[in-house]
Amino acid sequence: MSAVPFTRHDYAARMARVVEEGRAAGLDGVLITPGPDLYWVTGYQPTAITERLTMLFLTTDREPTLLVPTLERPDAEAAVGAGATTLADWTDGADPFAAAGAMLRPDGTYGISDNAWALHLLGLQAALPGTAYHSLTHRLPMLRAVKDGNELARLEAAGAAADAAYGEILGVRFSGRKETDVARDLAELLRSFGHERVDFTVVGSGPNGANPHHEAGDRVIEVGDCVVLDFGGLRDGYGSDTSRTVCVGEPTAEIREVHEVVRLAQQAGVDAVRPGIACQEVDRAARRVITDAGYGEQFIHRTGHGIGTTTHEPPYMIEGEELPLVPGMCFSVEPGVYLTGRFGVRIEDIVTVTAGGGRRFNNTDRALQVVA
Ligand code: ZN
Ligand code: ZN
Ligand code: ZN
Repeated sequence: MSAVPFTRHDYAARMARVVEEGRAAGLDGVLITPGPDLYWVTGYQPTAITERLTMLFLTTDREPTLLVPTLERPDAEAAVGAGATTLADWTDGADPFAAAGAMLRPDGTYGISDNAWALHLLGLQAALPGTAYHSLTHRLPMLRAVKDGNELARLEAAGAAADAAYGEILGVRFSGRKETDVARDLAELLRSFGHERVDFTVVGSGPNGANPHHEAGDRVIEVGDCVVLDFGGLRDGYGSDTSRTVCVGEPTAEIREVHEVVRLAQQAGVDAVRPGIACQEVDRAARRVITDAGYGEQFIHRTGHGIGTTTHEPPYMIEGEELPLVPGMCFSVEPGVYLTGRFGVRIEDIVTVTAGGGRRFNNTDRALQVVA
């Protein structure tokens, strides 16, 4: 089943919102470069993101204009369609920053995509020394955070695909194989369930599980290992990201205990979700359970992050983040406990905020599963 396409109307509404929210935040406009922002606002994803300047100008004083290298104009035209934005191009040998500068006020203040190349921002600053720039996620952190119905459907489908991959991985052999072998299985499963891109396949066995960002290495998985699995990517342009921790053979009492603490913490984090509370309350709810159980020092990362056209984005579920939860936001709830040199446990679901509370997009069993 494939996703309902976004319409020109959807993109026009997003572009209008960027300009409006930018204006409210004191910006004369927002400059969008290839990557998740450009994909979200136009559907256009250049096949190669290169040193040649591609930039969408969403400013208060002109129609949306997409500046592209001349050689990429046909692809851009096909992707954005006629009328959604005005297209402009620059040809190799010409100065792209002169073309870009013509779209900007010489004393203007602009937001710019976080992932814009430094080369391009420095070029703009040199061409127009009176302009000022702010990172988009600092100035407009909530721009992409609240998802519409079509986006929610895609995130839910991505979550279901990741769940299906987890269901299958429980049946493969772990013991005697390298972490990278299981990681490859996970990647293949995500693709077979419709992901066009795999962003990460963490397989952290035994002591490697105690390093939250260990991906997968040459370690051979042994009977008795606790194994953190954390995997995700993009399906129809929207992200999945889920973690479960499994045990190869019968778990020890300690593994059972730590796993249960993390399971209850994750449940408390999800239970805390409701419109109007601050993001930090989700972190506090999960952290309290782990701290009360005596493992507070071993929970060494924030509780969650937003997800959408990327697998990590605002809002962040972290102490100090006072932004309120709004229906339509989607983020991970992923507490963990990491016992250095021994093992780690993490459990993660993507959750969306509804009027009635949190609703999970990952729904596989969170009890400790035994694998072979
Ligand atoms: Zn991460
Ligand atoms: Zn994850
Ligand atoms: Zn995550």
